[in-house]
Amino acid sequence: MPSEILENRGKLFVISGPSGVGKTVLCNYLLQRFFPGVIYSISTTSRQPRGNEAEGQEYNFCTKEEFEKAIQEDSFVEWACVHGNYYGTPYKFLEDTLNAGKNLLLNIDVQGAIKIKNKFPDAVMIFILPPSMSELEQRLRIRNADTEDSLKRRMANAEEELKYTAVYNYTIVNDNLEKAQKELAEIYLLHTGKS
Ligand code: 5GP
Repeated sequence: MPSEILENRGKLFVISGPSGVGKTVLCNYLLQRFFPGVIYSISTTSRQPRGNEAEGQEYNFCTKEEFEKAIQEDSFVEWACVHGNYYGTPYKFLEDTLNAGKNLLLNIDVQGAIKIKNKFPDAVMIFILPPSMSELEQRLRIRNADTEDSLKRRMANAEEELKYTAVYNYTIVNDNLEKAQKELAEIYLLHTGKS
């Protein structure tokens, strides 16, 4: 690819962290603050919509069979099975966004993040940490979106994900939302040089 195209390409920002840590709030902050320079990568998932989630906003929802067909068609730059459901990052949207010189924000799990890092070594990798595991459990309980079984699965998954923080360039402890937002914005600015 000619170097001037590479120079104008957008950057990938990957955010991971356990369920309930506050990734969505932090992603929304970054998207609002730096709009229109950064765009959210809407993943495809085979899980059922939760609460007020709407098709094409938080996710593109599909059946397990549709997801498996899309895997066969190489539609995903990465995909993973998380908490028993499929999640994947659509390949075409990612390429189109980066080629248009826009930055793309991915909110994905550790398995997907590792695949992105291997394919795009320049991706800026950020892991959001809870202040403690007991605080995380409390936040999940307050969210009240889980059965006792799925809560246990999310907590076990969180323990597992915390083993992979070394894959990331940055970790942010979300003990205070304003502080976490400030740290995230500083990382974004450092890598884009824009305000
Ligand atoms: P939730 O069901 O709570 O929305 O998401 C569960 C987990 O799936 C979260 O850790 C989220 O970051 C991850 N996830 C969402 N979209 C993707 C994706 O496209 N790829 C991967 N690998 N993980 C995803």
